[in-house]
Amino acid sequence: MLSIFKRSNQTSERQLRKYRKIVQQINKLEPTYEVMSDKQLTNMTEIFKERIQSGESIHSITPDAFAVVREASKRVLEMRHFDVQLIGGLVLTEGNIAEMPTGEGKTLVASLPSYVRALEGKGVHVITVNDYLAKRDYEQIGQIHRFLGLTVGLNLPMMQVHEKQAAYHADITYGVGTEFGFDYLRDNMAHQMTEHVQRPYHFAIIDEVDSILVDEAKTPLIVAGKMQADADLHLIAARLAKRFKKGIDFDFDDETKATSLTDTGIEKVEKSFGIDNLYDLEHQTLYHYVIQAVRAYVIFERDVDYIVRDEKIELVDMFTGRIMEGRTLSDGLHQAIEAKEGLPITEENKAQAQITIQNYFRMYPQLCGMTGTAKTQEKEFNEVYGMTVIQIPTNRPTLRVDSSDKVYKTIDQKYKAMAQEVAERNKKGQPVLVGTTSILQSEKVAKYLNQHKLNFNLLNAKSVEQEVELISQAGQLGQITVATNMAGRGTDIVLGEGVEALGGLFVLGTEKHESRRIDNQLRGRSGRQGDHGESRFFLSLEDDMFKRFAKDDLEKFLKKVTANEDGLVTNPEVDELTERTQRIVEGAHYSMREYNLKLDDVISDQRKVVYSLRDKVIEHDGILEQLKTMLAETVEFVIYDSCAEEDTPSNWDFERIERTINDLLLEPVSLPTTLEKTADILNLYKTSLDDLFTFIDSFEDDEQVNQMLPQAMLSYIDVMWTKHLEVMTRLKEGIGLRSYGQEDPMRIYQREGLELFGRNYQKLRRNIASEVIGFMKLIAQQKEAQQ
Ligand code: ADP
Ligand code: MG
Repeated sequence: MLSIFKRSNQTSERQLRKYRKIVQQINKLEPTYEVMSDKQLTNMTEIFKERIQSGESIHSITPDAFAVVREASKRVLEMRHFDVQLIGGLVLTEGNIAEMPTGEGKTLVASLPSYVRALEGKGVHVITVNDYLAKRDYEQIGQIHRFLGLTVGLNLPMMQVHEKQAAYHADITYGVGTEFGFDYLRDNMAHQMTEHVQRPYHFAIIDEVDSILVDEAKTPLIVAGKMQADADLHLIAARLAKRFKKGIDFDFDDETKATSLTDTGIEKVEKSFGIDNLYDLEHQTLYHYVIQAVRAYVIFERDVDYIVRDEKIELVDMFTGRIMEGRTLSDGLHQAIEAKEGLPITEENKAQAQITIQNYFRMYPQLCGMTGTAKTQEKEFNEVYGMTVIQIPTNRPTLRVDSSDKVYKTIDQKYKAMAQEVAERNKKGQPVLVGTTSILQSEKVAKYLNQHKLNFNLLNAKSVEQEVELISQAGQLGQITVATNMAGRGTDIVLGEGVEALGGLFVLGTEKHESRRIDNQLRGRSGRQGDHGESRFFLSLEDDMFKRFAKDDLEKFLKKVTANEDGLVTNPEVDELTERTQRIVEGAHYSMREYNLKLDDVISDQRKVVYSLRDKVIEHDGILEQLKTMLAETVEFVIYDSCAEEDTPSNWDFERIERTINDLLLEPVSLPTTLEKTADILNLYKTSLDDLFTFIDSFEDDEQVNQMLPQAMLSYIDVMWTKHLEVMTRLKEGIGLRSYGQEDPMRIYQREGLELFGRNYQKLRRNIASEVIGFMKLIAQQKEAQQ
């Protein structure tokens, strides 16, 4: 164990040497820029830009550029980048991840790479975890860049199109990752170029990169349209699902969340709806409702994943414990939960566009990130994004003490000990931050603290501003704060007077998280910038983690467990059990993300095809040529599809070919059923197709066609894509059903997904071709009549 850590640190040390040399260079340049006037300093930006234009590399101007940013920062913010901050900046400029603990000043670090990469004039995106921080960084760090003559923009939800365009046009744009992703989706739903807000991607810096790319990556971004839901069906399905038992009526895979009904379950559904065969195509919707109802029970827990407020389901962000305002689950799942809770059923969301955060950020040619906790996730960052994690030394030595876990036999003993500990610390005046993993757990903690009549702040379902306010107070004398682990991430916890002498902030964890990384985030709340501090986790053998992931191990362990009178486990092997179990949890989550990413890759490839077609249409880029290609491909497809190679030509579907193609042509062509080669059939239509192409070309300058054509194409594309997304969701649900066979469900999904797309995309081309040709014929007739 230890040797692995050592080795990874050594690699970093070797890599750091390279950066230290550049830092020396930058430090040597300081006197040169110190003597420059403000105007001269600002002027450097133009000089750098010219050097890049004339072919100089980013790498070669970096030392000077960093020295200029540092000098500007000294003048406008009175902050001089520490050497370690320069190292962080170098790591980011190269497109890697800088691991720097909380309080090391990552916001200021980002001022360096954002400046350098903005010199290329293609726009740099700085991604923060919430709007509050985006605004703060835009206002603070933006001063440095504006001073140096760059433009800085802020991208917020609810902005008007022209405001967003201005924000994206800036050299550096601040905002939250999800909003950038939504802008991408909305740009790809726009009907006019003038509605586009984004430019091509260039470089993004992601703050708290692990939380954005790993933790929040679970829920895809979905732009949805509304659709009336069938309330009765939802209610019946909910009633059924309530009585269903896992392993008897349905199977559920903890890892992939795949849900499927067993034969017993299917029989019950068939009985209560009075149908013969649930697998029939006509009952597909019904099946879907039942599956969603089951998922509403097994995946979603009240007061953990959602709360009920004002007769509405409000989703809870697992990591912050914060209400996700306005976010709803799509595809009937939200309504299934409403039915489960006996609430009024709202309208369903139908996905019109969707993307995962991972796939959004993978579109940037270069990406980099910073966080206090990335090393434990290095493999994933490397495999998925090609980023390496470099640990940057702290500016001052870390003084926080991470004490070993206290593990109790029962949950009750754990919370009692926790409350006791908090009370003792509080008596001295030492501030305590109690970290929990859910709202439900926070409330439990609150109950036990109340028994000691302690005053504390409970950060449940608070707004971002309230969170920031309360978290920033958490280091004051005598404060007790109870919060889910991610609440107020990125907020500085400054210690109050006299707190340092009491040992700094005491962080108390009440449950291990799904990865050591998140535990470390919680610990990192304390001991910033060389402050004193302490962290310790209070656990119990009854914690979910053990029960779910270490059943056998736990049973063995319980046979030999020893404990003191408070229930504190005294066997030293308990630490090993905890560590092993958490590793299993980490592995399970990693495979789930990997699985979901693979699923999403299938859609991602298709999305690229559809969006690139859309781009061409919206840019009016050779649109008549597009139409001709669609026609030619449709003709070919119909012929090959109707003439199966394994069939004898007498069995070919000549009637279908004739009907479909004649629908497109100017004059019908009769197809002799004596032909025996597909090439001959193709040949037969050659002249007519050429005529049709000449006819199409005659509309080159026709205003009516030029206006109607792109709009019609876009509508068809969007309808097709929405429908296709729905079909793909059904397919995803369905593969759970068939995983009993020999074949890997992922492979089935990939293969059938591709087939479905091929068919739907072909249908799209035929529909567009036939609609547009019809329209052109109409115009031609009108013109003739006028003459
Ligand atoms: P992090 O994001 O790494 O947790 P922040 O960017 O929030 O840290 O910075 C923490 C605090 O340190 C802020 O108050 C910031 O102004 C201050 N700070 C950062 N860098 C410097 C510096 N070079 N000199 C002085 N103060 C700094
Ligand atoms: Mg920060």
